[in-house]
Amino acid sequence: MRRRRPRATILTAGFLLFAVFAVVLGVSAFMAENANCKTASLLNGYADTSLPEARPSGTFATLAHVPADAVSSVGNPSDAYASMAANAGGKPAVGSPIAEPEQDDSWMLMLVNRWNPLPEGYTVQLVDAPGGVQVDERIYQPLMEMLDAATEAGVGPIVVSGYRTQEKQQSLYDEKINEFLGEGYSKEEAIAQAQQWVSVPGTSEHQTGLAVDINGMIWDVYPWLAENSYKYGFTLRYPEDKTEITGAQHERWHFRYVGLEAAAEMYERGLCLEEYLNEIDP
Ligand SMILES: [Zn+2]
Repeated sequence: MRRRRPRATILTAGFLLFAVFAVVLGVSAFMAENANCKTASLLNGYADTSLPEARPSGTFATLAHVPADAVSSVGNPSDAYASMAANAGGKPAVGSPIAEPEQDDSWMLMLVNRWNPLPEGYTVQLVDAPGGVQVDERIYQPLMEMLDAATEAGVGPIVVSGYRTQEKQQSLYDEKINEFLGEGYSKEEAIAQAQQWVSVPGTSEHQTGLAVDINGMIWDVYPWLAENSYKYGFTLRYPEDKTEITGAQHERWHFRYVGLEAAAEMYERGLCLEEYLNEIDP
């Protein structure tokens, strides 16, 4: 049978050591700030931050004359120590999770394509962006950062298209159909062709305010965007090799904000938005 020191002895030893620390700290704090003694708050700070690093676990065992195996039997000594300090100071123990309010990021991954129209009554808070267009205000900051970086890289982009109303999308759509009709296509063929290039009204990402078409004075803007847009939370929405999945022709100028996390993963793994969404929620 293995002999173990009673838990109480270990805790007492630990507490005695803590008391020594507290007294030393208290005295030095008092000397440092004798105008108004802030021993308690100083002690709290000590317990919260520097304690685990400042006191190697070996010291605890040596000073308190407790065998190493006995120390481990009370769990992580620094945890035990910190919780004692916390009890004394009335602050939460080291490592306790800080509750953060949950953010709803689902808007970033909203899927709008030819099979998934915009939700009924969808509204968007718009803000003016360069090029005389508007975008969803939530993508303004990352968009500006991306444009600034592109300018710095010498590819000088300008946004030529951002948010579109239903009416605008309708007129673009009708224009495109007429273009194909003018080329001699039958009405049915013209519609089919037009839909390859202009989304049916209600199914365009431009109606979300989360997508932009970026064109520059020089061709280099496209490879630059393809390689760097993910750093700002944007994805090349319609890649050349995904036309069957996206339902849209390759558009090297069309970028969609999806957030940093999704954009990075899509970039690294070569996924389009449909593929990415299918992976996180099959
Ligand atoms: Zn576009």
